[in-house]
Amino acid sequence: MNFYTTVMGSGAATPTMSRHCCSQVVNVEGCKLLIDCGEGTQRQVRQYHQKLQSLAIILISHMHGDHFFGLPGLLSTMHLCGRTAPVDIYGPAGIRDAVMAILSASGHNIDYELNFHEFDFTEGRHLIVDHKRCTVEAFPLIHSVPTYGFRITEKKFGRKGPRSMAYCCDTLCDDSLLPFIDQVTLLTIDSTFDDKFAQVAAENLHGTATAAATLAAKAGVRQLLLTHISARYREPQILLDQAQAIFPNTLLAEDGLLVQVPKL
Ligand SMILES: [Zn+2]
Ligand SMILES: [Zn+2]
Repeated sequence: MNFYTTVMGSGAATPTMSRHCCSQVVNVEGCKLLIDCGEGTQRQVRQYHQKLQSLAIILISHMHGDHFFGLPGLLSTMHLCGRTAPVDIYGPAGIRDAVMAILSASGHNIDYELNFHEFDFTEGRHLIVDHKRCTVEAFPLIHSVPTYGFRITEKKFGRKGPRSMAYCCDTLCDDSLLPFIDQVTLLTIDSTFDDKFAQVAAENLHGTATAAATLAAKAGVRQLLLTHISARYREPQILLDQAQAIFPNTLLAEDGLLVQVPKL
């Protein structure tokens, strides 16, 4: 069964020439999910050969601009390209009003069905999508505004051992996340800083490479993918080195990278 993620953007708050805002397209046997949508994400989707109109499920982690400012633009582009199929958007409370206010202010009609599914909880893991190919659960992260991680699990009928991946951005990499990411096959998580900036990471509720790797080891994950890389790193090798010292099976995200969820 195909189960992989393609990185649309691997950067943090500020887009740079080499890194777009943090976003991924996950493909579970043809079921595609777009996670997060910073400015210009529709361009990234095309750049990395994902068919824009094949996206019907969009997951938004939180309301910081680098994770959702691109959503009105992406929905508008879908409309201009003749979309008729519905789109389901899952995100924090308030996302519907924010997106609809921008579309309305621009005088834009959307000629397809937009279904918003807002959530507002502070603990536990909640099933938000039950698709024939996979399930998606949301859980709270540790950040400066309400923020949710997502755990996507493939559906494997008649066989044990379904694979899963978790996307955790933005967040402090803290042990309280362990119940949500326990034994996940692929963990992609906020690794904005290296150790030298651990204090800055703690103050701004972001992850470091070392904290991400420590969490991955404790949770028993198979593979770690560091992402949400600060614009300060033109050469981000230090992040990979620090993480691999603790958790060797670590990759560093770059825009366009395709990562298969490892076989069990
Ligand atoms: Zn961010
Ligand atoms: Zn944020």
